[in-house]
Amino acid sequence: MRLVIIGGGPAGNTAATVAATLGAEVTVVERDVIGGAANLWDCIPSKAMIATGGELSELTRAGTMGLEAEGRLDVAALRARVAAIEARLHQSVVGLLESQGARMLQGRGRLKGPHEVVVETADGLVELDADTILLATGSRPRIPEWAEIDHDRVLTTRDAYPPPTIPEHLCVIGSGVTGVEFTHMFSALGSEVTLVVSRQQVLPRKDPEVAAVLEDEFLRRGVHLLKGARAKGIERTDEGATVHCDDARQVEAGHVLLCVGSVPNSEELGLDEAGVEVADDGTVPINHHCQSNVAHIYAAGDLSGRLPLSSVAAMQGRKIAEHLMGLHTLEHRHLDYDKAASAIFTEPEIADVGIAEAEAFAEGRKIRVTKVPFAASAAALIQGDPRGFIKVISDPATGVVLGGSIVGRHAAELISVIAVAVTNGLKVGDISDSLFVHPSMSESLADAAW
Ligand SMILES: Cc1cc2nc3c(=O)[nH]c(=O)nc-3n(C[C@H](O)[C@H](O)[C@H](O)COP(=O)(O)OP(=O)(O)OC[C@H]3O[C@@H](n4cnc5c(N)ncnc54)[C@H](O)[C@@H]3O)c2cc1C
Repeated sequence: MRLVIIGGGPAGNTAATVAATLGAEVTVVERDVIGGAANLWDCIPSKAMIATGGELSELTRAGTMGLEAEGRLDVAALRARVAAIEARLHQSVVGLLESQGARMLQGRGRLKGPHEVVVETADGLVELDADTILLATGSRPRIPEWAEIDHDRVLTTRDAYPPPTIPEHLCVIGSGVTGVEFTHMFSALGSEVTLVVSRQQVLPRKDPEVAAVLEDEFLRRGVHLLKGARAKGIERTDEGATVHCDDARQVEAGHVLLCVGSVPNSEELGLDEAGVEVADDGTVPINHHCQSNVAHIYAAGDLSGRLPLSSVAAMQGRKIAEHLMGLHTLEHRHLDYDKAASAIFTEPEIADVGIAEAEAFAEGRKIRVTKVPFAASAAALIQGDPRGFIKVISDPATGVVLGGSIVGRHAAELISVIAVAVTNGLKVGDISDSLFVHPSMSESLADAAW
């Protein structure tokens, strides 16, 4: 089996590793860096900078922990730290691919026909024949027509890592997951931040109770929330830029950061040459095996238009490798996107999985919602951070866990217990009968599952 993969991000490199392990002859074509945008610009640098901001915030709380301490940000050291993490992760992915015998080809790939990929490399064109092809080219930040990015004062998320200096006053446009993470990150690192929120709530698709905890925290830190404001223009000034909103409000800031979604990298991929359908939004539609309309051409990750998460991209990659290598059996579980856990790395953290309360009400579905605040948790009090809560959503008739939301310290880790329950049809009793460590934040999971 000759598999050619275009794109070496989480979707592409996971599929490559698993398929090569299973015996496929794999070539991964990557135009930038193996590890993908996820490693270079998106998940990893943002979480590394957030971790540094988190340590700084911890120091501001030191007094409440019986300590005297103060911290000062060293931007050069932060830049070196982020670069070192990226390099380490890049090396580990490359090492894994090499150890499994996968070939890596540096260059820009495109389809030349249903079974041919052509790659523009530094040494000229290389043509590859394939039995199976995986398209995993990811996405890039969306730039609305009213915004001109100058990569100096008007930025996308790809310009923000790690900046040579921390902006004094930053205006973040967009209050979805990326917008709130960057707002949190830069306010923790010392910027004055104004967040332009087009609706009346940050994280408009999230549970209002969850969003309220984050809004309170932003306000406590002095973040300016400009609610109900839709940006319609950005004007460069001598000292920065002015954001104009459609209701005549405006924000003057040293830097402006656009966080208004992403667009798939599907242009110039030769999709027509191979007869691969593309949707109006530029994504490649897939079935439950991640096959495009051309059965031997798969698509995964952000290009496939499903949940734009690294974890989902990597899981799609693994499922694709298993499917094309014939490991797919009747017992094989399809990837269920509705059961993917996700987290927002703000302070406090926010994580959820499965069905949301508002969604269940909208569908007229009967659910049981049980909620426990961390204010009642010994571990949270000991750690000096009793903000937030755990909410478990279950079926009132059977007790089967359908979903959950967590706001608070370590939410991104704690949600895994609910994710395992949701994926495996466990009941609330399966969680509450489990003996967790005392004192631990996990104990609240057992308390909330009843
Ligand atoms: C700021 C930010 C933070 C995020 N944080 C998280 C997080 O914490 N957790 C999480 O799960 N998700 C996070 N995401 C989402 C996550 O980054 C994406 O879902 C993930 O990167 C998608 O993986 P992928 O393999 O589809 O594509 P990518 O990681 O984008 O990789 C695609 C690769 O394909 C290459 N490529 C493109 N076209 C070609 C071509 N023609 N030829 C050769 N190579 C090509 C690109 O160079 C790139 O390396 C974040 C996103 C953003 C924007």
